[in-house]
Amino acid sequence: MTNLQPVRGTHDLLPDDRRRHRHVESLAQKISGLYGFEEVATPIFEFTDVFVRTLGDTSDIVTKEMYTFETKGGESVTLRPEGTAGVARAFISNGLAQHVPVKVFYTGPMFRHERPQKGRQRQFHQIGVELIGVEGPQADIEVIALGHHILKELGILESTTLEINSLGDVESRTAFRAVLTEYFQSHESDLSEDSRNRLVKNPLRILDSKDEGDRKIVAGAPDFAVHLNDTSKAFIDTVLQGLTDLGIPFERNPKLVRGLDYYCHTAFEFTTTELGAQSAVLAGGRYDGLIEQMGGPSTPGVGWAAGIERLAMLAGESPARDRPISVIPVSADLVAQAQELAQSLRNEGFFAEFSFTGNMKRRLKRADKSNARAALILGEDELKDGKVMLRDLDSGEQEAIPLGSIVQTLHAKYN
Ligand code: ATP
Ligand code: MG
Repeated sequence: MTNLQPVRGTHDLLPDDRRRHRHVESLAQKISGLYGFEEVATPIFEFTDVFVRTLGDTSDIVTKEMYTFETKGGESVTLRPEGTAGVARAFISNGLAQHVPVKVFYTGPMFRHERPQKGRQRQFHQIGVELIGVEGPQADIEVIALGHHILKELGILESTTLEINSLGDVESRTAFRAVLTEYFQSHESDLSEDSRNRLVKNPLRILDSKDEGDRKIVAGAPDFAVHLNDTSKAFIDTVLQGLTDLGIPFERNPKLVRGLDYYCHTAFEFTTTELGAQSAVLAGGRYDGLIEQMGGPSTPGVGWAAGIERLAMLAGESPARDRPISVIPVSADLVAQAQELAQSLRNEGFFAEFSFTGNMKRRLKRADKSNARAALILGEDELKDGKVMLRDLDSGEQEAIPLGSIVQTLHAKYN
């Protein structure tokens, strides 16, 4: 027997869900357009190396969460766990360095093998933006302002807090790393096994640990802000001043990190307390070393990604379906004529739903259920006079209107 359950951690998007997702996507795409970000789509799978190189072999994604398989040709490919790596790869493969600044928006499914729960799936969806080729802090301000704008238009700004931190430049990070390593070494025996591993490979990552015991040790860890050099301080100060100037509130969170070497300066997250353990809604940062690390020309970049499921949950009610005009034949003889009428209305740009089966009562009931604003009823008697009945389903009022003026009447009443 075929197993008819969807694979664990995957979900069908039925019309209500899909409409909700679409609403998030189209709103985000439209607002991104106001900032000059154009939509791109990269493949859903890439050579595994694209992700291992960019995410690093100490990240949760690479160590535990990737869907990796071998193709028939013997190549290792991975379903994308996130969008930045693919965009960076595309930037290099397509020689886009000549066209900087490159500003892109993307949307689509991502895949991570993690424990499914509310707001956490194995196939989930993200919107995201990348601004590639601008070194200055104005780029950071621009992408954060864009994220803020989208949350505002979705009506969920009030449920979120913008947390922000600086990871500094290479010099600051090297200095901080040394201080941090020393601190964690003094607590080594109390750290989780994962974090003891990170201590050798990438101690910054420990700050990001979700382990209870680790979190206690992290709470007493030294503060990055103290170890930033002047350049790094100036950079984050400009970003924060820019946000203030734009009226975007934020909280500084010295523990917020993105633990990879090429992440630098600005790291930020819009978080919420409304989705249980799943607090991150929209997260991003600056990744000046990434494109070079992948083998491209040294190019700065900054961007963010947001989970559509989480955005949609915060946004609540799905937007209403459009309201059709229901076209109903009174008798079997008039079915073909009714379908033709429905078709001619669609050609005029109306949402016309042809009523397939049932007696008049059932058909009207179904029209109500599909939230039709009106029914066009084709009956022998009216047709003899060259007319059809137009019933407004909100008011219940009806009138016979000439066939020749249906379009005009519908435009006047419903458009
Ligand atoms: P988390 O801390 O919740 O695991 P993350 O740090 O792994 O998040 P990012 O890689 O920064 O998340 O991805 C950006 C956004 O994508 C998150 O803020 C979240 O909204 C969403 N997201 C990440 N993983 C999942 C998932 N498994 N299911 C649904 N949404 C997700
Ligand atoms: Mg995660």
